Amino acid sequence: MSSQIPVQQIDPNTDGPSDKNNKKNPETVELYASRKKIYVREIKGLFQRIRFFSLMALMGMYFLFVWITIDGEPLIHFDLPAREFHLYGMTFFPQDFFLLAAMLIICAFGLFFITTLFGRVWCGYTCPQTVWTFIFMWVEERIEGSHTKRMRLDKAPNSPEKMIRKSAKHVSWLLIAFATGVTFVGYFYPIRELLADLFTLGANGWAYFWVGFFTVATYLNAGWMREQVCLYMCPYARFQSVMFDRNTRIVSYDPNRGEPRGSRKKSADRKELGLGDCIDCGLCVQVCPTGIDIRDGLQYECIGCALCIDACDSVMDKMDYPRGLIRYTTENELEGRPSKLLRPRTFGYGALLMLMIGAVVVTIATRVPVELDVIRDRGALFSYNGNGWVENTYTLKINNMAEVPREFRIGLEGIETARLLRGNEPVQVAAGDLRSVPVVVEVNPDDLDDINTSITFRIEATDDSGVSDETDSRFVGPRPR
Ligand code: SF4
Ligand code: SF4
Repeated sequence: MSSQIPVQQIDPNTDGPSDKNNKKNPETVELYASRKKIYVREIKGLFQRIRFFSLMALMGMYFLFVWITIDGEPLIHFDLPAREFHLYGMTFFPQDFFLLAAMLIICAFGLFFITTLFGRVWCGYTCPQTVWTFIFMWVEERIEGSHTKRMRLDKAPNSPEKMIRKSAKHVSWLLIAFATGVTFVGYFYPIRELLADLFTLGANGWAYFWVGFFTVATYLNAGWMREQVCLYMCPYARFQSVMFDRNTRIVSYDPNRGEPRGSRKKSADRKELGLGDCIDCGLCVQVCPTGIDIRDGLQYECIGCALCIDACDSVMDKMDYPRGLIRYTTENELEGRPSKLLRPRTFGYGALLMLMIGAVVVTIATRVPVELDVIRDRGALFSYNGNGWVENTYTLKINNMAEVPREFRIGLEGIETARLLRGNEPVQVAAGDLRSVPVVVEVNPDDLDDINTSITFRIEATDDSGVSDETDSRFVGPRPR
């Protein structure tokens, strides 16, 4: 059975009108096509500027936040050995994992909400794959030149200049990738110690492994694979279209205005020629980082970067045509119908998002930054002391989840004569620390009506923060007479 079909091909790397390539020379190609390298043409414009600032801000935050500390605690630090997570001045412990999970769910709903309104703005402006690919492409353009120069350089035979340019590019990419890897590991391993340990060969073996892993992954993803990650590896690219509807504002070509496309002189009257506004220059295809032709309609390969809008607007300006042949618009607007911003789908995602954010904010605001756990000594049920009172032994585990050290007073409730024989001194617990405190409680046996009597342990901070916690346990005594 043949695996070949006749198709019309568009080459994003050619400069001329596409109808010469597409309409007159249909070719036969393999269904399984090998990757064709895309030489993206640099373009300037409004959306490119927005992308630049958004990508620089995100990149800056990534490389900067790892160095910031608040009162000696890192701004963001995942301390896996201590099982503590420091986020923006708060410390989370394994028991707070539901909060981290809730924050991830909020991010997911936020993404769905934005996608429903504005399509793949996440992909085009903020996704790490886009951010790093953009930086790598910027470096490539500075070292190897424009897209035509890069094409020529790749086709040229090896020469000292080619070797120098290629080496400079790969060394620069590897340095950025290494900085990315070190920074990533720095969120788990204090960055200052990591740098000192890495270069004195004193770091943990896993630190070397993960720095190496993220260096290689960044170099390959942003340098070599680029749009292939979006097209074949990213699951979001596959399912985002189910969040689109006729009112989603996405990058689109306006065929009513642009067709029939065709080249013409600037001075020519397009109405007389029977042409639309598209001069078929192919610039929108040349700037596309995924190499597609937006004029073919909505395609899952489109990452919503809006570079084709800037490209087409620059052509429209040169032709003295109104801008916006390619623009952010909705399917309804393209068909001359009104668009709705607020609709059941956006209300649904928006309401769920608000609900989740509200729940997390309330949980964090009312979160008690101390936890008390009481473990009864199972070795001895009870004993009598010299006064004839009954004694029980416990271990109190005080988990100070605050960013500051605290002193706690231990109290008892539930049995009137209960007194602390051991553990009645205030207990100091360091910030984010867990302290075990042995405690002995004595009770007048006349106060016990049963073998097991409920007793409550309460801890209270000695400062005026009002931080406290309590836990119920049981006091074991003799069978009442
Ligand atoms: S068609 Fe290409 S250039 Fe245009 S928004 Fe989509 S990915 Fe970007
Ligand atoms: S850049 Fe604009 S005018 Fe040129 S081919 Fe694309 S849509 Fe047509």
